[in-house]
Amino acid sequence: MRILVVEDEKKVAGFIKRGLEEETYAVDVAYDGMEGQQLAENNEYDVIVLDIMLPKKDGIEVLKELREKDIKTPVLLLTARDSVDDRVRGLDSGADDYLTKPFAFAELTARLKALMRRGEYGLTVLKFKDISLDPATRRAKRGEREIELTVKEYALLEYFLRNPDRVLTRTMIAEHVWDYTFDSETNVVDVYINHLRNKIDKDEKQKFIHTIRGVGYVLREEE
Ligand code: CA
Repeated sequence: MRILVVEDEKKVAGFIKRGLEEETYAVDVAYDGMEGQQLAENNEYDVIVLDIMLPKKDGIEVLKELREKDIKTPVLLLTARDSVDDRVRGLDSGADDYLTKPFAFAELTARLKALMRRGEYGLTVLKFKDISLDPATRRAKRGEREIELTVKEYALLEYFLRNPDRVLTRTMIAEHVWDYTFDSETNVVDVYINHLRNKIDKDEKQKFIHTIRGVGYVLREEE
């Protein structure tokens, strides 16, 4: 799951980014409206957290233009306290929800989860053959065997399960599991795939995570 946070207050942006990363999301941050809009138009996000008061272009403008361009990513607006006007304008412009600053982090994640549940990515249990992953409890299983996953392993497995039988390149994996500052030239992706493989496939007769030489990886039944 990949989230874009558009917020010019560095402290707030940093706090949101750290918190969401701890919850296994890949997070990109933009510090003004122009940059935020550009990232939103050029990347696939599962949800966007958009502050209204932003330098260069305000959040409402950004939101309007995204919707005009038919980008339907769910948007959670951040509004200043007592700014009823902003809230109304925001919802009119295509925001899916709003949160008044200051807010507790738990409130933010609850809202984001609700938005993602409404969207394409529900919180239903993900399955492939005998592998299952429950986003609500964050528990993974292979058959009856419980698998303990680290934050990045979880994000990787989730990405595979949402894209079975599809070859995922290292770049795609890096972009979805890490963020855009990640250097995909390193072998970190391969290292993490190996960790995940050890947990999912190692002692199993049937292997599901396959290497496509020179390209990337795929989750599928056959070699
Ligand atoms: Ca602001």
